[in-house]
Amino acid sequence: MRPRLWNPEMELMSHSEMRTLQLVKLKSLLNRAYEQSPYYRDKFDRAGVNPRNLTSLEHYQDYPFFDKDEERASQEASRETARHTFGLHITCNPRSVNRVSSSSGTTGSPTYSGFTLKDREITNDNQARALVRLGIEPGDVVMHASVLSMWIAGIPGVDSMMAYGVCLVPVGALSGVERVAQIARDTRPKSIKCTVSFAQYLAKHMEERTGIDPATLGLEKVVVLGEPGGSIPQIYEPLEKSFGGAMVHDIMGATGCHSPTGISCEEHNGIHFYAEDNAMFEICDPESLQSLPIEDGVEGEIVFTGLERECGPLIRWRDKDIIQVTTEPCRCGRPGPRMLFKGRVDDMLLVKGVNVFPNAVRDVINKTSTLTTGNIRIVKSSPGPVVPAPVLVKVEVKAGLPDQKKQTLAGDLDNAIHHQLRFRATFDFIDEGEFELLKGATGKTHLVEQINEQHGPLGRNDEQRNI
Ligand SMILES: [Zn+2]
Repeated sequence: MRPRLWNPEMELMSHSEMRTLQLVKLKSLLNRAYEQSPYYRDKFDRAGVNPRNLTSLEHYQDYPFFDKDEERASQEASRETARHTFGLHITCNPRSVNRVSSSSGTTGSPTYSGFTLKDREITNDNQARALVRLGIEPGDVVMHASVLSMWIAGIPGVDSMMAYGVCLVPVGALSGVERVAQIARDTRPKSIKCTVSFAQYLAKHMEERTGIDPATLGLEKVVVLGEPGGSIPQIYEPLEKSFGGAMVHDIMGATGCHSPTGISCEEHNGIHFYAEDNAMFEICDPESLQSLPIEDGVEGEIVFTGLERECGPLIRWRDKDIIQVTTEPCRCGRPGPRMLFKGRVDDMLLVKGVNVFPNAVRDVINKTSTLTTGNIRIVKSSPGPVVPAPVLVKVEVKAGLPDQKKQTLAGDLDNAIHHQLRFRATFDFIDEGEFELLKGATGKTHLVEQINEQHGPLGRNDEQRNI
């Protein structure tokens, strides 16, 4: 029997038909941006591209990228000159914005996304595609145990699940294991949605803290987000066992589009991307940023364009994720290319389920004390982005700093990091001149160092062997 789909017309569309549809929608988007946003018109003119001349998706590769720094600058400018915070790149009246989400702000000041009513409706459709693939029907009880915040997977996720008609239990992640356990026992959710680390925390501590065995809650689905894990056997297998055989699924979003845009299946074979009709993606070579042909096994940085975004379309948004795409049909029978997360372009780390960017740690340290030189490196002992707290940070300090001052400095830096980035840190202070900078192939200084717990820092040869 063929798995059920919410929007079979879009989800089952052939590759060539999809490319044709994408081109039509892209032309419309680019023309709208060019006509309605002086910001985009100027940007396109400077790049020497004009939407009137776009006749194929290949031409789209000539269009300039968009990224976080540009979005932040555009939004700072709109606050100063246009009295709204959605950026000069929006293509709608700011008064038609119906809901606002924001980034976590761990990379600096937060950025904002506005959603019009139509934007919300498309988001609702994408959410429904995920829920149907999960086998969740309107009326089924779903526990949202992710954060209840302005983050795109917080309140916006709640909003679109309610639009589908689930019986939503918005317990949130901050309620603590006791309350989550009690409410899950009382409401009997079919599915729980949370970060990987919170699912692991529940699996480990629920029974000892509450006397409630998570395996007895009757959960059928554990949907994890925000962190890789649902496709990694060492992570999902123990989780499935702890939750009494509930299936773990990864859900993914696409920045600047209408998230969620993909969900993994029971094959744990990568995430089926199901929203190409509104969330167009390209895979680009991480070094040259040339768009690569979408074929089986292609790997590179994923770049998104929200084809139907009314507020703040992000045209060729660099999401900074390295993704491998599989186009071979999946054994589950569901359509859609599958995506496997391979890493963050920017070495993003995950500490206690929160995205932490190493450069944000460096910024906090530099702003907190003039006794440091600006060189830091985060030390982690296992591969992958998850780092347990307290996080060890090597910090270069001005020469001749007495021990007592180092002690005070450690306290100040820990407090600042805890206050601004929400995790605890410990420090290894290295005197000025003795801090060895590690550089990558592109000349970028590595802000993260992986050590082997038993054998100390990896040598250059080890690194080359990718141990
Ligand atoms: Zn599948």
